[in-house]
Amino acid sequence: MKKVLVVSLALLITTLFILPNRTVINAAVRSVCVDAGHGGTDIGTSNGGITEKDLNLDVANKLASILTASGYTVYQTRTTDVALSNRDRYTFCNGARADILVSIHHNGSTNPEIDYSRALYMKKVDVELARALVDSVSSKLGTTNNGISRFASGVLIKAKMPAAISEGFFLTSSYEYSLLTDGTDKRVQDEAQALYEGIVNYFVTH
Ligand SMILES: [Zn+2]
Repeated sequence: MKKVLVVSLALLITTLFILPNRTVINAAVRSVCVDAGHGGTDIGTSNGGITEKDLNLDVANKLASILTASGYTVYQTRTTDVALSNRDRYTFCNGARADILVSIHHNGSTNPEIDYSRALYMKKVDVELARALVDSVSSKLGTTNNGISRFASGVLIKAKMPAAISEGFFLTSSYEYSLLTDGTDKRVQDEAQALYEGIVNYFVTH
């Protein structure tokens, strides 16, 4: 009886205070510019029939859906297979006055055994966003966390808000390829969910 009461009380407190706060503070007033890397003739890296540009877009669209459903305002640099310059990307996100910019990429290597998660930053204000993304992605996907690296990307340099590139995993990895072609959407859905959770974690302290 006591145990039930304690659990009920905990649930009540969670419902009354924690959940509404998360919704109000973290979602309603926050906006995210989601950038799917590459596009059009610029395919990025590839493996078999899978191109990075399509994988990036798939993850970006799923992330945008999760964010929108959670009350965030979302801007997307592209929602279809079109070519964009770096200038197109940062100009769009800056014009939208988004709170953060998250650019989605995947890594490539000639070695099919290499696979890890990494995030890229350029400005000082990008660092904590990059770390929040890579920590969440590697933890949810079970990949090695390769941390963050400074990278002089045109998008990151010119973005007027905290911005980071997520290199979720190596598309060229044979392990990742097997997951991506297992007939489900799980790997992509998990990555989108992980990016979402990383963004939420970042907003808790920013
Ligand atoms: Zn890329």
